[in-house]
Amino acid sequence: MKKCYKCKKLKPLTDFYKGCDECKICKKEIMRVYMRKYRLTHPRNRENERKYHLTPIGRAKARIRRVRYLKNNPWILSLYWIKRRCNYPKQSYFARGIKCLITSQEVKQLWFRDKAYLMKRPSVDRINSLGNYTFENCRYMELIENQRRKKEYILLVKKFKKTIHRL
Ligand SMILES: [Zn+2]
Repeated sequence: MKKCYKCKKLKPLTDFYKGCDECKICKKEIMRVYMRKYRLTHPRNRENERKYHLTPIGRAKARIRRVRYLKNNPWILSLYWIKRRCNYPKQSYFARGIKCLITSQEVKQLWFRDKAYLMKRPSVDRINSLGNYTFENCRYMELIENQRRKKEYILLVKKFKKTIHRL
């Protein structure tokens, strides 16, 4: 048995790294804090990090990390497309004044509520097509279904315009 000088607990020798006076849990915590501090304060390190991301290997690794992240969090991609549609001045949704008021956590909730992981090509649909992107107004749907709804809506608008023209 050995006493950890950090948490002041008696622990068996297997809970210590060789030649350390702290237990494994305390040592990990110390290293975590130290590494974060080191990364933030050490100028050479930060510079190296930046340079590393400019190398082909660094870029490839970053890409792999990104792909893995999107594979584990696929709803982030739908949020990306929503934001793109709403926030870029050249997009039609921006001109129509439709806003993105949904957060990534809410999109995640929708993903599991509507079982989007079972769909072939899931896409976010607004229940009221004149409303904003909010948690209450959104649901996940197959892309084909969504496009069919959109076409119907456009046809309806065309018909409406024609009848107005006749009057
Ligand atoms: Zn300890």
